[in-house]
Amino acid sequence: MPTSINPVVTRFAPSSTGYLHIGGVRTALYNYLYAKHTGGKFLLRIEDTDRARATPGAIEAITEGLRWIGLPWDGEPVFQFARADKHRAAAEQLLTAGKAYHCYATPEDLTVMREEQKAKGLSIRYDGRWRNRDPKDAPAGVKPTIRFKAPQEGETVIHDLVQGPVTVANSQLDDMVLLRADGTPTYMLAVVVDDIDMGITHIIRGDDHLNNAFRQYQLVLALGHAAPLYAHIPLIHGADGAKLSKRHGALGVEAYRDLGFLPEALLNYLLRLGWGHGDAEIISDDQAALWFDIVDVGRAPARFDLDKLTNLNGHYIREASDDRLIDLIRPLLEKRGPTAPEGLARLRRGLAGLKPRAKTLNQLAEISTFYVHPRPVPLDDKAKALLAGGGVAILGELVQGLQSVSTWTAPALEDWAKAESEKTGQKLGNLAQPLRAALCGSLASPPIFDVMAVLGKDETLGRLRDVTTG
Ligand code: GLU
Repeated sequence: MPTSINPVVTRFAPSSTGYLHIGGVRTALYNYLYAKHTGGKFLLRIEDTDRARATPGAIEAITEGLRWIGLPWDGEPVFQFARADKHRAAAEQLLTAGKAYHCYATPEDLTVMREEQKAKGLSIRYDGRWRNRDPKDAPAGVKPTIRFKAPQEGETVIHDLVQGPVTVANSQLDDMVLLRADGTPTYMLAVVVDDIDMGITHIIRGDDHLNNAFRQYQLVLALGHAAPLYAHIPLIHGADGAKLSKRHGALGVEAYRDLGFLPEALLNYLLRLGWGHGDAEIISDDQAALWFDIVDVGRAPARFDLDKLTNLNGHYIREASDDRLIDLIRPLLEKRGPTAPEGLARLRRGLAGLKPRAKTLNQLAEISTFYVHPRPVPLDDKAKALLAGGGVAILGELVQGLQSVSTWTAPALEDWAKAESEKTGQKLGNLAQPLRAALCGSLASPPIFDVMAVLGKDETLGRLRDVTTG
């Protein structure tokens, strides 16, 4: 791991909106990986100043989402609202230093100002009316805001690690409010003060914050600190090219969990959305930490492709251990119906044959149900139709012979079925389909002789009897 004299400190600073946005997970991942790559720290700050939305449940959705996905942060989370005194102190510090000033413009004054600017075709921004005014002019009874005395000459250049150099003329930056008239800090002040106090060296976040960076940069300098490095990553777009929004489907990480995605699949997918390492598609945590550098993140917006995520999830399901998969799908199986006492043992024996056939945990639970369900197994419509259309008669003839099969393994059962097919002149498939319908309740299953071996002789014959004598 590279080392540096000033350790890297990154942070993920989600607003408590009620859920952990999938785009937020990618931002968190890039912050996490960059810290890992450099041997630095990855901190979490919950931006909970919108008190109506900062419910315990909303905060829990973020911490629980990060825990589930596997992005552990260092130390305790920082809560922004609780730091309001620090934010106020920073505003006072700037006031004392002459880098901020009281503004006595009332909301009504500002409305008039904006309307006049609009009428004149000017861009709408605070006109600095209290910037150089004598505080003695302060009108009685008006509580002032504190505004930042932003530089008016020259330009601000951010050497963004992803976007490259970005420049804005300082004449474009108006004097933003730092403290509202009621004494509450603004978002811009809070973010800057928190980043300073947390020792953040690299601010990696969505490029919707790029415009804020110019003002935040000036504010950091005014507070007497070195500016952090910025990396504004392109937002995630939907398959249609528009910014990812609710109408593209699930947005919160918990929705993907509930759809049956594995956290490592989602992380691997999000990692590759905007960053790559040659042709590597399957990338482990360790490889990612070794290879990931923020400067390699692309500037083009990434497109979210559910099919690709689903295929990747299929890969991770195949890789997952049987014990883990069974633990994960147990609650799903319980929701689907009753479980026979020996059901889970059967599932364990049959899981290898099911894994390649599922791309989500929900699919895996669905195709596993026939192993765990007690007799009689439910039959789907196609299975019922096949059995009614001659399948039962075929099975009736098979049951007798099957009883005398003594070696109950997949190859031995296949040999038996081949012999039956020669004897009766029925194609092997014509024997296999009714067996599948009766044993699995559907016409899609792993190879049927494997299924019979997993079920065992008694259960197989019992299930066949359920349909032939029913
Ligand atoms: N709280 C902001 C958000 O959720 C992020 C602020 C930042 O990263 O500076 O979009």
